[in-house]
Amino acid sequence: MRYSALKVFKEALTGHKGWKPVWREPEPKAEYDVVIIGGGGHGLATAYYLAKEHGITNVAVLEKGWIGGGNVGRNTTIIRSNYMLPGNEHFYELSLKLWENLEQDFNYNAMVSQRGILNLIHSDAQRDAFVRRGNAMVMAGADAELLSEEQVRKECPFLDFDNARFPIKGGLAQRRGGSVRHDAVAWGYARGADSRGVDIIQNCEVTGMVIGNGVCSGVETSQGTIKAKKVAVCVAGSSSRVMSMAGMRLPIESHVLQAFVSEGLKPILPGVVTFGAGHFYVSQSDKGGLVFGGDIDGYNSYAQRGNLPVVEDVCEGGMALMPMIGRARLLRMWGGIMDMSMDGSPFIDKTHINGLYFNGGWCYGGFKATPASGWCYAHLLARDEPHPVATEYRLDRFQRGAMIDEKGVGAQPNLH
Ligand SMILES: Cc1cc2nc3c(=O)[nH]c(=O)nc-3n(C[C@H](O)[C@H](O)[C@H](O)COP(=O)(O)OP(=O)(O)OC[C@H]3O[C@@H](n4cnc5c(N)ncnc54)[C@H](O)[C@@H]3O)c2cc1C
Repeated sequence: MRYSALKVFKEALTGHKGWKPVWREPEPKAEYDVVIIGGGGHGLATAYYLAKEHGITNVAVLEKGWIGGGNVGRNTTIIRSNYMLPGNEHFYELSLKLWENLEQDFNYNAMVSQRGILNLIHSDAQRDAFVRRGNAMVMAGADAELLSEEQVRKECPFLDFDNARFPIKGGLAQRRGGSVRHDAVAWGYARGADSRGVDIIQNCEVTGMVIGNGVCSGVETSQGTIKAKKVAVCVAGSSSRVMSMAGMRLPIESHVLQAFVSEGLKPILPGVVTFGAGHFYVSQSDKGGLVFGGDIDGYNSYAQRGNLPVVEDVCEGGMALMPMIGRARLLRMWGGIMDMSMDGSPFIDKTHINGLYFNGGWCYGGFKATPASGWCYAHLLARDEPHPVATEYRLDRFQRGAMIDEKGVGAQPNLH
């Protein structure tokens, strides 16, 4: 079924009786060409591009909970490609380009809204760093614009420009950045993959790997054993747990990141704004709520809930940036588990076990990466070679000293 304005109109006239479920609920088959573990954004995008771009449709996506219940439905929905390092920028720019055409591509309204992202500058040294970043972005084919203090004042008059401790001196804008309705991305990819023959199996937890003689030939699940020619792990915050089933230790730690939504307010924020003197980012949803977040909780955890000191820290960042936020009531907050890698960059790679592939380490920037991650992982699975924009995302890069440390903070995952 194709969605269109005409279809909505027709259904409205006929009592909405013609809508079909967005994806099927199939029983798992005994064997697949590819089994993808994890029905988050990345797993579903991988299945979609495997089917659409490579014609590989004998694929199952195994999800232990429900589609959209993981980080893909828990993030603050920001998309951008304002990276600096060569290993990253081309990848994230490919992702932004895929976002720009995604809704037409999978025929689903994901509310892609390129309302722009503005990173604020608070010191001369920070301006130098942002000029360098902006130049790197432009050289990689992305867009970047350096704004003066006056320009920022005009676009965001509600910010605290004269805060004695964190005066705002300008900003780096990426106009093509913005936000996307996160869970709709999962549903859109699920629908697109399902309609091409992919089996999406919910409530199916992978509990073990079938490995012998250095070859992975399937998985044990809560719904029985499923054989596969290729097993593709894509489980975000659960990466270390799932890969330990294959006896692998990853350069990843799991931490909680929290998100916050205020009560609905009249439109005030033109796009995404990030504080440059602390960790705080904010946008406004179409329903009017201010959607914001900050740092991860500093300790390792697999619990999908955060703690109060981080709530206080995030709210302090918000107050320093836009004091009027103190008048808004907090409506909801939640946590998600982040797979924080040692250099803050992800992995899309084969493992030393034949037939076992790994995608993870997205830290708290993996939502924007969803389309390119699926695109590149599908390429790797179909052709057994890395996609040209993801060649640096190898598991052995720490052994080779080839880190992609965008923040330059070293092997301290909680700081990336
Ligand atoms: C609060 C918060 C804010 C964020 N904000 C942003 C942002 O603004 N921009 C941005 O780019 N990124 C952001 N992120 C990060 C982003 O959401 C993640 O990096 C990304 O969603 C991870 O990929 P995924 O969608 O595939 O993960 P998930 O949706 O978590 O998918 C992984 C799936 O694997 C399943 N799974 C785990 N173990 C098993 C198993 N044994 N068997 C079967 N299934 C299993 C899980 O149930 C889960 O559904 C944020 C994250 C959080 C939590």
